[in-house]
Amino acid sequence: YSDIALYKAKNSGRNNWVFYKPDMGEYLIQRREMEKEFREALSEGQFQLVYQPRYDIKTSRIAAVEALVRWQHPRLGLLMPDQFIPLAEETGLIIDMSDRVLEKACLDGLRLAPDLKISVNISAVEFNTGGLAKRVKAILQKTGLEPSRLELEITENVTLSNPDTTLETMTQLKEIGVRFLIDDFGTGYSALSYLKRFPFDGIKLDKSFVFAMEESDNAKIIVENIIGLGKAYSLAITAEGVETAEQLKRLKEYQCDEAQGYFIGRPVALDKVDFNVEFGV
Ligand code: C2E
Ligand code: MG
Ligand code: MG
Ligand code: MG
Repeated sequence: YSDIALYKAKNSGRNNWVFYKPDMGEYLIQRREMEKEFREALSEGQFQLVYQPRYDIKTSRIAAVEALVRWQHPRLGLLMPDQFIPLAEETGLIIDMSDRVLEKACLDGLRLAPDLKISVNISAVEFNTGGLAKRVKAILQKTGLEPSRLELEITENVTLSNPDTTLETMTQLKEIGVRFLIDDFGTGYSALSYLKRFPFDGIKLDKSFVFAMEESDNAKIIVENIIGLGKAYSLAITAEGVETAEQLKRLKEYQCDEAQGYFIGRPVALDKVDFNVEFGV
């Protein structure tokens, strides 16, 4: 319903969203207009990247940054991915957007310390339309970023909708050193036993699990077990949505490898990322 949300955003101000379905005719006009604006955004460079750090709990160092896209819309202001990624996916324009995101992220990566990794989110649509391995290789070559510094984040559902293509694409990119992370782990429909067929390097445990730890002992047990299971499969575990010192402390107890979230650092422009944070929990 991102189109619908945006429709309301345009007509009643950004902070006054009601999920409401305009009649179909209006809806289609709105959609077509937004698609046109998206094309303009591509040609005029209205997409920007912010970066959120990932913290290595054992070494107390920032290990990586994740690129998160924003659309600086000329009339609507700053739009978040949930407001435009679905449309980009439906129209296929996600490929062009993603090429730009990947290239910018690789170039930005060159400005960082060489031991830092850069992760980029890849949509399921990009796997299903093929050509991803070729595109990523071309961008790595063009920018000169060391492939082993690039991490691609995909959700577990990607592997379900098109397992053969996914495996082939991943294998081609693994050969040159690109790393893969399972994003939002736990929100999809697959088990780790299934996912181990794919060459993933790490798991990002969805923030809903970290949030739930506050509420119930059951959730704590689940988190501890997922971390253990990940380790059994030699996967590095990143906990998403770490907002408090308390959560970080508990994750450390459970031997979680990495933490990401507002407590560590919010997504900000690259030159605003604090790489010197250290948390004595
Ligand atoms: P994601 O990859 O799971 O990214 C994490 C999201 O959670 C980000 O939202 C981030 O700002 C937010 N977040 C981080 N730490 C915290 C926290 O401590 N608490 C809470 N409540 N939220 C936190 P954002 O930037 O709105 O991105 C949403 C989703 O959009 C991303 O989820 C990703 O799936 C997608 N996305 C972002 N950039 C791109 C892109 O360049 N390409 C594609 N295909 N998808 C993208
Ligand atoms: Mg992600
Ligand atoms: Mg995530
Ligand atoms: Mg997500």
